[in-house]
Amino acid sequence: MPQGTHILKDRFGRVHDYLRISLTERCNLRCFYCMPLEGVPLRPKEHFMRTEEVVSIASTFVDLGVKKIRLTGGEPLIRKDAENIIRQLSALPVKLGITTNGILVDRYIDCFEACEIRSINVSLDSLMRDRVAAITRRDYFDRIMSNIQMLLDRDFHVKINVVVMRGTNDDEVTDFIEWTRQTPIHVRFIEFMPFGGNRWEWKNGVSLDEILSRATERFGPFGFERITDSPNDTAKNYRLKGGRGTFAIISSVTNPFCDTCNRIRLTADGKIKNCLFSNSETDLLTAFRSGKDIKPLIADAVLNKKAVRSGMNTMEQLSDSDVHSDNRSMVSIGG
Ligand code: SAM
Ligand code: SF4
Ligand code: SF4
Repeated sequence: MPQGTHILKDRFGRVHDYLRISLTERCNLRCFYCMPLEGVPLRPKEHFMRTEEVVSIASTFVDLGVKKIRLTGGEPLIRKDAENIIRQLSALPVKLGITTNGILVDRYIDCFEACEIRSINVSLDSLMRDRVAAITRRDYFDRIMSNIQMLLDRDFHVKINVVVMRGTNDDEVTDFIEWTRQTPIHVRFIEFMPFGGNRWEWKNGVSLDEILSRATERFGPFGFERITDSPNDTAKNYRLKGGRGTFAIISSVTNPFCDTCNRIRLTADGKIKNCLFSNSETDLLTAFRSGKDIKPLIADAVLNKKAVRSGMNTMEQLSDSDVHSDNRSMVSIGG
């Protein structure tokens, strides 16, 4: 086993070979479940990783055994040097992916192709223009839809992330599933999760079980089937019988999948978060800038990872709002 694999292995035997890098905590949308109403306080540019710092820190992770990197944010594509970062990271021996709100995809699609990025996740919470405007507090529906179509026309593997919220878009679950019948698109329903500033209450969330029973109501018990999940998949995957696409459910609230977690996060200001819900962080950027070896810091962060949701094993613990008020908002974590 290469040395690096040990450093990325935690106490529970999970090897963290998937790095999610947030390129910015800014965004051109204001999704209410992600970005606090008051926004994220602006901080000086020096607080954030520069192009060469992103690439160099990412390369260290790759040396240690990371095999997959996903760029996220905030909105990763609003960074002026996003193309430069993408091009440099694509030269590393990793599978590179991007999670985006889709608005700027047309500007980057040639770069994605040139860098052999084939998997793009686009967030879209409704198939209705007015609803998307209400959820995101901006009016970009047409642009997002035409960019999704452009990705499909150019044969990208497109996943659509849908945060399902009661009274907001839960009545569209089966319309999203119907979309996968004729279109080779991969819809992923995400249970609404608690983060700093998003005023989470589980009564506004919709569970895996409820999503499945809505699918059964509309398509019948034999109208769709469970399909094999890939290793370390966060989602439970399904397909309409004869469907060209798939749908999946990411149930971090009602059915966490932490036992196979292989993800570690690097925030735009250069901190490691060893779990989405972790309130403690490891400052890599300051160490990197002072010329220190960051590998022991990475090793420590991995070793200190808790078994489940940063120690919130139960629904009661997850529902304690005091815990989340200490966590960042999702827009500044990098989902
Ligand atoms: N801006 C990009 C986008 O929207 O795809 C990337 C960053 S966004 C934080 C990454 C993912 O996190 C999105 O799919 C978004 O829907 C999801 N997300 C944000 N807040 C969430 C919450 N409270 N619960 C569940 N998923 C959330
Ligand atoms: Fe921006 Fe993505 Fe958060 Fe929406 S979900 S506010 S697009 S970072
Ligand atoms: Fe991994 Fe934390 Fe998500 Fe569980 S909650 S899957 S440990 S990031």
